Amino acid sequence: MSILDISALPKENSSMATIAVLPGDGIGPEVTAQAVKVLAVTAEVFGLQLQFDRALIGGQAIDETGESLPAETEALCKRSAAVLLGAVGGPKWDNPDAETRPEQGLLKLRFGLGLYANLRPVKPSRFLRSASVIKEEVLEGVDLIVVRELTGGLYFGQPSRIWQSDDHWQAVDTLSYTEGEINRILHKAFQIATSRKRKVTSVDKQNVLSTSRLWRRLATQMASSYSSVTLEHLLVDACSMHLVTKPSTFDVIVTENMFGDILTDEASVLAGSLGMLPSASLGEGGIGLYEPIHGSAPDIAGTDKANPIGTILSGAMLLRYTLQQEAAAQAVEKAVESVLERGYRTVDIRQPGTTLVGTAEMGDLVSAAVRASSGAAGK
Ligand code: NAD
Repeated sequence: MSILDISALPKENSSMATIAVLPGDGIGPEVTAQAVKVLAVTAEVFGLQLQFDRALIGGQAIDETGESLPAETEALCKRSAAVLLGAVGGPKWDNPDAETRPEQGLLKLRFGLGLYANLRPVKPSRFLRSASVIKEEVLEGVDLIVVRELTGGLYFGQPSRIWQSDDHWQAVDTLSYTEGEINRILHKAFQIATSRKRKVTSVDKQNVLSTSRLWRRLATQMASSYSSVTLEHLLVDACSMHLVTKPSTFDVIVTENMFGDILTDEASVLAGSLGMLPSASLGEGGIGLYEPIHGSAPDIAGTDKANPIGTILSGAMLLRYTLQQEAAAQAVEKAVESVLERGYRTVDIRQPGTTLVGTAEMGDLVSAAVRASSGAAGK
């Protein structure tokens, strides 16, 4: 079953699909360049017509236009089939009193495109098991996906502000969800589970939060419409523990915005590095946004040390969900596995006996592996 309404999107080998590329800040330009390189080779091999149009977002956009999401960028994204994004932010724009912050651009883009469902698959490569701090036997069989609500909750609720009253400072954020917002993300999670291991873990904090009590009630109601899927409820604190003690017991984890943000950074430990994990953000509008789960990593920006695999695998998700090119998506995923199997590593996943490569070389190796696999398949 499709998890995205793709009726308006290009079908097999049809007309040109425009991909808006928003490199952003820090390592964003380095990692998106590698994903574009791999997508371009994959398009050539599979006879797809892709056009890559670049635009500004985040800190770089603030510097050049004063806006974190210039109107031109938003317009490009809205007329594209998909958006490929690097990351935004960095110390240069960290002034908490600044009126415009890089992250606002990304939140506005997600909201403007109606991208309420953020999919974050975690399936550690078998060649990286020893790169994780988690014991290898715990990683055996891990194949889960976190479905994170992306346009509601604390990151969007109003009021949200800091103010001074009398002799002290105060601040408020608002956690608010409607029935409709919760039901549409639950639907997405249950739909995804039907084509996987048919288990949904709904994560909340119902012992403390009213929004979580509503979430749990709606999840229980929804389960009756998906009789083939098993539903379990888990408190977010227990879930954070189970993610590292028995991660192979999960299939689909569905949760609200902030819990999902935190749990997926934790889940990246299973994959060996934050640099390994991709994501897709989907809605009803047909445009998908694809980005690695990591940030702009200013500590390694410009040093050719960033791991581009999370962004390259985000490109594979773009091929799968927006362009409906399953074979091409799998070709990219297999190419990444083959490069890891042959022992090539960026510094974040380096192990004894492996060959250290930089960001650009990793992109070249994956591109070459896509091309080689097509030759092997006689294309
Ligand atoms: P981060 O994800 O940028 O980095 C955390 C650590 O992981 C750093 O040590 C970094 O070097 C490392 N790392 C991250 N990606 C890597 C990669 N591909 N290869 C190798 N190592 C990698 O998180 P942070 O340091 O907390 O935030 C830095 C900036 O990024 C902040 O301005 C933050 O607001 C922003 N940020 C943006 C996004 C986004 O654009 N979606 C997400 C998270 C953080």
